[in-house]
Amino acid sequence: MKFIKANQLKQKPDFNNLHFGEIFTDYMLTMDWEDGVWGDVVIEPFHNFDCSPAMLVFHYGQGIFEGCKAYKNDKGEISLFRTKDNLARMNKSAERMCMPQFDVDKVFEGIKELIKLEKDWIPTLPSSSLYIRPTMIATQAVLGVRVSRNFKFFVILSPVGKYHPAEDGNLPALYVEDHLVRAAVGGTGEAKCLGNYGASYYAFAKAKEHGYEDVLWLDACEHKYIEEVGTMNVMFVIDGVCVTPALNGSILQGITRNSVLQVLRKYNYKVEERKISIDEVMEAAKSGRMTECFGIGTAAVISPVGAIAYKGQEYVINGKHIGPTEKFLVDKITGIQTKRYPDEFGWVIDVK
Ligand SMILES: *Cc1c(COP(=O)(O)O)cnc(C)c1O
Repeated sequence: MKFIKANQLKQKPDFNNLHFGEIFTDYMLTMDWEDGVWGDVVIEPFHNFDCSPAMLVFHYGQGIFEGCKAYKNDKGEISLFRTKDNLARMNKSAERMCMPQFDVDKVFEGIKELIKLEKDWIPTLPSSSLYIRPTMIATQAVLGVRVSRNFKFFVILSPVGKYHPAEDGNLPALYVEDHLVRAAVGGTGEAKCLGNYGASYYAFAKAKEHGYEDVLWLDACEHKYIEEVGTMNVMFVIDGVCVTPALNGSILQGITRNSVLQVLRKYNYKVEERKISIDEVMEAAKSGRMTECFGIGTAAVISPVGAIAYKGQEYVINGKHIGPTEKFLVDKITGIQTKRYPDEFGWVIDVK
């Protein structure tokens, strides 16, 4: 590992008033792939890249990313949550995108050092954390459509507060998108690759235009089965059973989704991973058998949903109030993340 010291450190922001991903810390981690090998992990001052406009990532989107978090509790204890799982998933995304595999342990050690160095940047307020964004991009400067020979791996850090402050009693409503699709089986939906989000903006814009906060995505083939919500996985509570769409090749294999399933099963909730159609969801919402619906992802952990609209029908869920499963999951998972609860699943690595 190499270390390059910054001449000057930045002023810390007001941690009470953070917008997601707008402020970056003093240092970043970088690692370059050249001539078929990864170079050293380098921790260096956060800086702009000097690069060719012909770089492959700009033209053909060969690039992948991850998102995970470091936490600091009020005792000053720092923990990383499932970071190695994120790095392992990044290697899977790399395979799908014809990018090189990296050594998870070597990169993890680098991230740990980076977090130690930047410990004063980790907010301790409730629902706050230091967001970690590992990224890998194709850096060869060439316009031919081909797999890049060179890559840059980097990690940047951003202190974040609550993602979408969910207002109990006025939870956001979803727009069911029945034409545009996020991902198809056989496509790149399972990989965390750069293009997936760019391709989904149009549907988000359409949902906003209709007055909705987020998109509920259906499958690409029949436009019939639920896939995800916005940029998250999704769960419904119907007749007291927690139902989430089964992984099918186009749904992203969320780490928070996996954490939620493990917690619910351990605490004897009824859980089903299966195909769930939009007709079943609307029927359950209409009849009041659906008592909760929520998004699941690293950024917000649990994002409760207040209403769902599909083909001109709109149904409110639980009076737009946060439900008991949502409360339980937020308390349990954030409790483990901040060491308020014992780490009964082996998810947390202490940074000392
Ligand atoms: C990252 C991501 C998720 C959530 O995954 P986590 O590992 O829980 O953060 C869900 N859906 C999509 C499309 C994603 O990119």
